[in-house]
Amino acid sequence: MDHSGLWKKVLDELGLEVSPTTFSSLKKTQAVKVQGEALYVHCSNSGVLLLLQNSYYSLITAAVKKYTGGAVNTILLSSKKDEPTKKTAYQQGIEVEQSIENRLIIAHVSPNLTFENFAVSTSNQMAHAATLAVSKSPGSTYNPLFLWGGVGVGKTHLLHAVGRKIIETTRSSVLYCSTEDFTNVLVESIRTKNTALFRKKYRSIDVLLMDDIQFVSDREFIQEELFNTFNKLQTQGKQIIFTSDKPPKAIKNIEKRLASRFLSGLVIDIQRPDFELKTAILLIKARERGIVCPIEVAKIVAAHLEELRELEGFLLKLEMVHNTGGDVSPDAVEKILLQSGITLSQRHNPKEIIHITAREMGVKLRELKEENRKKNIALTRHIAMYLLKTLTNLTYQDIAALMGKKDHTTVMHGVQKIIQQLSRDENLRACINKIRLYFS
Ligand code: ADP
Ligand code: MG
Repeated sequence: MDHSGLWKKVLDELGLEVSPTTFSSLKKTQAVKVQGEALYVHCSNSGVLLLLQNSYYSLITAAVKKYTGGAVNTILLSSKKDEPTKKTAYQQGIEVEQSIENRLIIAHVSPNLTFENFAVSTSNQMAHAATLAVSKSPGSTYNPLFLWGGVGVGKTHLLHAVGRKIIETTRSSVLYCSTEDFTNVLVESIRTKNTALFRKKYRSIDVLLMDDIQFVSDREFIQEELFNTFNKLQTQGKQIIFTSDKPPKAIKNIEKRLASRFLSGLVIDIQRPDFELKTAILLIKARERGIVCPIEVAKIVAAHLEELRELEGFLLKLEMVHNTGGDVSPDAVEKILLQSGITLSQRHNPKEIIHITAREMGVKLRELKEENRKKNIALTRHIAMYLLKTLTNLTYQDIAALMGKKDHTTVMHGVQKIIQQLSRDENLRACINKIRLYFS
């Protein structure tokens, strides 16, 4: 096996250990030669070099020894060709002052999810305040901190924000890891008989940010390892933050002692974002991407879409329209919303939608289909049209037929009216959300 083949095998092993993003940086490394007992590896930049040195050195050395039967036993890393760092400072036990960028990479913390670009409203202000407090004095305020809430409410964002703040303001070592990562690395370390290394890694950090802890349910040996990691860190006054999609007691099949550890600190829930928050987030994300999104447009989009991840998806669409010179005025955006199909993925029974809308609005089914122009009845009719358009795949013609209308443009008008009104009428939003609950 030549040096390139050898390095490829080593990288394949590393691929099992690291996140896909880290792996793609590591793949930019190149084996230069084998000389004597050393393999020379060139890294594309010093960040990657430090990452290999500080986090994976023992692992790559072990792999190289394994594949060469011990003939090659030293790795010389360089970030400029022909300038291998001999025994690195790290190997000699000298502390290396690292840049913030490198520490973020090593900690698996995204530089883009920060407190500065996190919008605060009633639904998340407690979580925001608690994470901010923790980032100012890790280990001594709320420990552990347990954040829970549905998908897309900003849990992962806050974890990264804490990580970044601590890295920027202290010398503490931080590690963000998803519970999946923790599990995979543990399983792999058992397979390669490297559990001692695993423990050393997880038990020697100052701040552990553990995402989506609900995935430990049903996995006893992971819980055991987590429990021990937790104890070790906590007795040393290290900070831990967990996130989960449900409260500690609702995580199925977890050991009581682990659940009670989660509960021993501060538990905070994050509610679904309200209209104002969704609008604010949309404006932040648009600004970050350099997309022109006037506040009226943001309001229309926020009123129409439920999930934050849908908001992001829609923004990408807006970006595309904007970049290709398209129109992003409120009117045009309404059209895109209706055509986007973002909310059309679920299929619901149209008759049921009409029935429940009428019932919730206190209107008789018969009245809906008659030519009755009373305000409340007309509004109910429009709401039904809007829900049919957003919750099913029906066309305007289909909806017209269902609602006893000859002309499909009546339906188009009705739907547009609701979309416009939704961005300024809180009562209407509450009312539609209530009906939507039947179909979520
Ligand atoms: P969760 O981990 O709770 O499922 P995420 O943190 O991944 O949710 O959030 C989903 C998306 O919404 C991310 O792009 C995140 O940046 C964004 N987001 C969520 N809450 C906020 C907020 N309050 N301010 C700004 N962006 C937010
Ligand atoms: Mg998340």
